[in-house]
Amino acid sequence: MLNGERLVNRPFRWAMVGGGRKSNVGYKHRTGALRDNANFQLVAGAFDIDPTQGKDFGVKIGVSSDRCYDNYQEMFAKEQDREDGVEVVTIATPNGTHYEITKAALKAGLHVICEKPLFFSSAEGEEIKDLAEKQNKIVGVTYGYSGNQLLLQMRAMIEKGQIGDIRVVDLQYTHGFSATDEPEKTSDAQKWRVDPKVAGPSFVIGDLSTHTYYMSQMIMPHMKIAKLLCDRQSFVGSRYPLEDNAHILMRYENGAVGTMWVSSINAGCTDGHRIRIVGSKASLEWWDDKPNELRYEVQGEPVRILYRGNDYLDDLAKEDERLGALHTEGLSDFWANIYHRFALAIEAKNSGDLKTLEALIYPGIQAGIDGIRWVENCVRSANANSTWIEYDHSGQKLHV
Ligand code: NAD
Repeated sequence: MLNGERLVNRPFRWAMVGGGRKSNVGYKHRTGALRDNANFQLVAGAFDIDPTQGKDFGVKIGVSSDRCYDNYQEMFAKEQDREDGVEVVTIATPNGTHYEITKAALKAGLHVICEKPLFFSSAEGEEIKDLAEKQNKIVGVTYGYSGNQLLLQMRAMIEKGQIGDIRVVDLQYTHGFSATDEPEKTSDAQKWRVDPKVAGPSFVIGDLSTHTYYMSQMIMPHMKIAKLLCDRQSFVGSRYPLEDNAHILMRYENGAVGTMWVSSINAGCTDGHRIRIVGSKASLEWWDDKPNELRYEVQGEPVRILYRGNDYLDDLAKEDERLGALHTEGLSDFWANIYHRFALAIEAKNSGDLKTLEALIYPGIQAGIDGIRWVENCVRSANANSTWIEYDHSGQKLHV
C-alpha cells in the first residue's frame, strides 16, 4: 500500500521537454510524477516549441523563470553546469522528436522518461539501449495504463495457473474521435499524428496499440508471438499511407492465437480498450472504462467481478494500492504508479542494485523497443498485402 511515504532517498530533480499549455499529455505526466511530492520535483523545462508560450506556462506551474528554457539543447547545457541541475527528464513531444531528444538527454547524463511510441525504428532503440547502458541511466516509457493494479492481478492469476493454458488473446483499443477528417482541421495534435514524417510508419498501431501490446506482454510475459497478419485501412483517405483502423491476427509460439482491433474510427465509441485472455479453465477480462473491475469467468460457475483494493487480490496487485477498495481509482493513480516505479528504477540504477532493478515490473527501454518492433511487424505484414509473416523479434530498419 502506498501512503505518500518516501521510498527513495530524496525526490529526483525533474524536467520536462514538451507537455506545455496546449499539450494533450503533459498534465498526465505531472499528476503522475508529482503525486505525494515524494519521488520527483519539477525544477526546469522547455515546455513548448514556442519559447514564449513555454516560459509563460512554466512560470505559471511554479518553475522558476530562469529555469524555463527556450529549447531542450539550452536546458541540457545550462542544467549540466548547475550543482543542483536536473537528474531526469520527461520527453512529451511528438513521436518524430523522441530519438534525438532522448539521445541528447542521455549524453547530458540524465535519466529519461519518454513517450510512446518510443522511436521510429528498433535499430534506433537498440542504439539508445546501448547508450543508456554506457551512461548507466534508465529509459522509461510511459505506457500509463499499465500502472493499473488489476493488470498485475491478471499476471499473478495466469502465473498461478488459475485460468489454465492460454488459448485466445483478444485485444482491442478503439475510439471514434477520428471517424471524420474534422480533427485534422482543428487539432494540431491530430495533424502530426497523420503525418508520417512526425508520427512514424503508423497512426493508430503506434498511437494506441503499443499500449495494449505492452500490457498484454506484462500480463503474459511468457507468451511470444510467432506469426502475425495485419490488415490496415485509411477510412479517411487523406490519412493514407497511415491507417486509422487495423485488425491484427497473432499466433503465439505455444499454440495460442490472438487478435488486436485498433481503431480511431469506431464511431460512437469513447473508450474501447479491452483485454480478454481465454484459458482452458477460465477467462479474464478487463475494460479500461471500468478500471477497478476484473471479470473472472470460470467455466460452469457464475461470473465473478474482482474489485481493486480488496484483500482477496494477489500481493502483486496490492503493492501500489492507495485509496482502499471503498474508493474508485483512475488514470491519474495508474500514472502515479508508473512514475513511482520509474523512481525506484532510477534509485536502483544509481546505486547499482541490479537485483531490485531486474525484479521491478515497469516499462523500460526493452518495452519501448518491443513496442517499436510490434509496429514494424504490423507494417511489414500490412505492406506485404496483409499476409502472414514470421514475427521478427530482432528488428529491422523501416524507411518511412
Ligand atoms: P500535442 O501535439 O498535444 O503536444 C505536443 C507538445 O510538444 C506541444 O505543446 C509542442 O509545443 C511541444 N513540442 C513539440 N516539439 C517540441 C520541442 N522540440 N521542444 C519542446 N516542446 C516541443 O501532443 P500529445 O498528444 O501531447 O503527444 C505527445 C506525445 O505523447 C506523443 O508521442 C504521443 O504519442 C504521446 N501520448 C501518450 C499518451 C499516453 O497515454 N502515454 C497520451 C497522449 C499522447
